[in-house]
Amino acid sequence: NAKLYYDDSADLRWLADKTVAIIGYGSQGHAHALNLRDSGVNVIIGIRPGHSRDRANEQGFRTMDVKDAAREADIIQILTPDHLQGQLFEEDILPGLEPGNALAFAHGFAIRFKQIIPPPDVDVFMVAPKAPGHLVRRLYVEGQGTPALVAVEQDATGHALDMALAYAKGIGATRAGVIRTTFAEETETDLFGEQAVLCGGVTSLIQAGFETLTGAGYQPEIAYFETLHELKLIVDLIYEGGMGAMWYSVSDTAEYGGLTVGPKIVTEETKQEMQRVLADIQNGTFAERWIAENQAGRPSFNRMRQAAKEHSVEDVGRELRSMMSWLKPSVVEQDGVGK
Ligand code: NDP
Ligand code: MG
Ligand code: MG
Repeated sequence: NAKLYYDDSADLRWLADKTVAIIGYGSQGHAHALNLRDSGVNVIIGIRPGHSRDRANEQGFRTMDVKDAAREADIIQILTPDHLQGQLFEEDILPGLEPGNALAFAHGFAIRFKQIIPPPDVDVFMVAPKAPGHLVRRLYVEGQGTPALVAVEQDATGHALDMALAYAKGIGATRAGVIRTTFAEETETDLFGEQAVLCGGVTSLIQAGFETLTGAGYQPEIAYFETLHELKLIVDLIYEGGMGAMWYSVSDTAEYGGLTVGPKIVTEETKQEMQRVLADIQNGTFAERWIAENQAGRPSFNRMRQAAKEHSVEDVGRELRSMMSWLKPSVVEQDGVGK
């Protein structure tokens, strides 16, 4: 059984005499920094000049170049994009690391795929919230927390786990519950989940359903409601009570239709494809491809991003959502930091 930690198994005193440098002030960076500060932790921000630095300054943080932050801090939490962490580490963080310092991450990519090879005399831990940064912040402010995973890759001081749990408490994660994992498990399952199910699988499923209905001549607005809008209501039921609660709540007709048709949509072939996707993650092929794509200036990534934006389900959605007065504006748009 997975080991769970809550507030009472974490002690903020492990951070009492420490300076935490948050490197990067984006989705995760701003949330970690603000939550830690509100928990009484001494936080500085390592960030290059630009939009992010301006925001951190506006929010009252002491900001500085990454090099200076790494030199000053005891705990260095790297919250810049994963594919850029290797170079940033070599150039700006490694020179400032001292024995007994801690390197921290919110995702294991750089460590798991050896983009960063830390010196052996520092702690290396991860606190990975299982939500986008804007929710990590919002839930903390509301007195709640975001569940997170913690892992220790190197324990030079003998207290890396204490430090990781204290950090998790500082961002509010132990209010919700924290699970112990490893860098490899977190990285591989996180990549698989977002690719096959959460981001890739779901968007492809929605698009295929939407295209099938509109292709058969149904109104796009109706297709939008049936294949996208209602998804949230269904997911909420599953999230709160498992699939059973969802099956219980929908009509018997929906339950019979769903149980018979679901396995025809996600077939044995789909599962074999999932296994290939997982193998590519485990053997480093995906990481290699992603890093090469960045080095080449993201030619195919940009093309796919554009195509996704231009899909007609997005046009219909924009229009319909602007008429839904009850809909809260997107957290991303609200915070003014679209990605
Ligand atoms: P974002 O893209 O939102 O933010 C990146 C930040 O890094 C920006 O502030 C950017 O500043 C800064 N940055 C980029 N390059 C440099 C550089 N060379 N030097 C200094 N600062 C730089 O990142 P995320 O918050 O999405 O991701 C950060 C980490 O958190 C990743 O490891 C990710 O996997 C992990 N994570 C993310 C989640 C999420 O929901 N987003 C969820 C859980 C984990 P600028 O404005 O100047 O570009
Ligand atoms: Mg991820
Ligand atoms: Mg229906």
